[in-house]
Amino acid sequence: MTPAENYEKMYRRSIDDREAFWGEQAELIYWHKPFERVLNYDKPPFVRWFEGGLTNICYNAVDRHVAERGDQIAIAWVSTEVNERRNITYRDLYTQVNEMASLLKELGIESGDRVLIYLPMIPEAIVAMMACVRIGAVHSVVFGGFASLALASRIDDASPKLVITADAGMRGGKVTPYKPLLLEGLNAVTVERPKVLVINRGLDSNPCPIAGEIDFATAMGPHRGKIVDPEWVESSHPSYILYTSGTTGRPKGVQRDTGGHMVAMRQSMKYIYNVGPGEVMFAGSDIGWVVGHSYIVYAPLLTGATTILYEGLPIRPDPGIWWSLVAEYRINCLFTSPTAIRLLKKTGADWIHAHDLSSLRTLFLAGEPLDKETHRWVTEALQGVPVVDNYWQTETGWPILTNFAGLGLMENKFGSPSKPAFGYETVLLDEHGVEIGVNTKGSLMVRPPLPPGCMTTVWGDDDRFVKTYFSTAKELLYATFDYAIYDDDGYYFIMGRNDDVINVAGHRLGTREVEEALCTHPAVAEAAAVGIHDELKGQEIEAFVVLMANVAVPSEDELKAVVARQIGAIARPKFMHVVQGLPKTRSGKVIRRAILAIAEGRDPGELPTIEDGKMLEVIRDAVEHRH
Ligand code: AMP
Repeated sequence: MTPAENYEKMYRRSIDDREAFWGEQAELIYWHKPFERVLNYDKPPFVRWFEGGLTNICYNAVDRHVAERGDQIAIAWVSTEVNERRNITYRDLYTQVNEMASLLKELGIESGDRVLIYLPMIPEAIVAMMACVRIGAVHSVVFGGFASLALASRIDDASPKLVITADAGMRGGKVTPYKPLLLEGLNAVTVERPKVLVINRGLDSNPCPIAGEIDFATAMGPHRGKIVDPEWVESSHPSYILYTSGTTGRPKGVQRDTGGHMVAMRQSMKYIYNVGPGEVMFAGSDIGWVVGHSYIVYAPLLTGATTILYEGLPIRPDPGIWWSLVAEYRINCLFTSPTAIRLLKKTGADWIHAHDLSSLRTLFLAGEPLDKETHRWVTEALQGVPVVDNYWQTETGWPILTNFAGLGLMENKFGSPSKPAFGYETVLLDEHGVEIGVNTKGSLMVRPPLPPGCMTTVWGDDDRFVKTYFSTAKELLYATFDYAIYDDDGYYFIMGRNDDVINVAGHRLGTREVEEALCTHPAVAEAAAVGIHDELKGQEIEAFVVLMANVAVPSEDELKAVVARQIGAIARPKFMHVVQGLPKTRSGKVIRRAILAIAEGRDPGELPTIEDGKMLEVIRDAVEHRH
């Protein structure tokens, strides 16, 4: 059988004989008590995978490996920021996770309680995640680049009992203190204030005190050598919440289960990423994003592989750093974003050729559209190592569209993330909600039940889950909010989002979030933000504000700083304008589509009736005077 035939056979079975297919994949993990039903889909679109099964993620990711591979490195930490490296074996990890679980218990954390993790890329972050799932607690990791408003909204929504943070992170050699941002966030929350545990790295010489904070090193003292039995939880017990942006300003808590999540992770390593026990994976992402959750932490550890945890930039100390790690750690699978590759492209392929890449089998890229040119360039630069584009979302936790290194790759087409992964019945709809076929652009949907590993609901809001994701078509279908097209061979091409989500360097941000952050400035009456095309980062933010009457006009830098302060540096607009007004419909809705078209130098085309046509000129004028 060719790889394509093999894929076709397995894919069909994953749809036509769902329960048999996933029942077999479930054998990849340890069940303390076997499940009674592979799939309970009695209440569409809600899914319960492996119902009745008792298991524990930490047991599967750590304990299970100690006997067979206790001396193998589980986490290889490399920090080019603090110039430090640490190898943590599975045995070490077992010890550290147990000790931290014991501390969490002392701090009153019980099964089902939330713990917010706001940490840089240090091993303690992974230890904390594992300690949480060990005791059945639900972690919510917040990306270290997020700032006070983003923290406050997540604390308000998840109401964690505990926040684990550090004195600081580092980026490009610059210390970025975490505590002032956390303190500002805590001051804004409306729920009960969580306890705060601080890992002091000794980076911030002027740490900002938080009332009642607990010092990690001191608190850990009595827990050294302690063992905490894993809490056996039912398969649908929530394992984590990861917030992501959507159309509204309020981020959604993507909730993942336990059993389905593990099965999805394991089978994706086997068939898609082709990484087995004892092999080495490096996902150049951040634990605060879904790629980090899945392919820095969960999938490699559940597999018994070695994961590289990298704190630093891909071009520092020089653009060869990642490739030197490939050679040194004999990395088999590298995963990163198109933006990282575009950044490396600027410095040339010599940085790649200078290193021994004989261990590297595949490079995977995801998180944003991979343009054909970059795909072609990196394929050539890697001289025979295949480059696989894979398409997915925070919501799904693993690829919706991909090629399958574990089956032997099918043909790879530049600019295409290939074909649907197992269990995803993909459908394209036109603007009238009618299913369309080959070579026609439509909205990409997935016919439920969603496969294991996908979000099970929006944290605390089942209604929002159904309304957001399953209410855009006549039929019950999951909306990805991306446009796509597929060709005669069934290869998909992603054509961008059809909602108000901006993707800056693979980081997902909502236009509403940026606008709300701008509106916290006392002089701002209203704001509009759009994501404009950018050669390097895919998209950049351009924002427009209208001011209150009789106020001092803030500088553009001041307004950009407000966004960075509230959401984080990644959201800082590239261009910022103070304008007289915004183009709106008669009903008062800002027409972002028109603003975007003008900002990208395109004709806005047919528009809904505009309240005041002059406003298009206002935007055009602002864009012409960018600086
Ligand atoms: P996130 O939830 O942050 O991972 O963002 C998910 C969104 O990123 C998707 O809905 C797409 O718009 C975009 N995306 C992710 N991977 C790809 C890809 N391989 N090609 C095109 N767009 C992608």
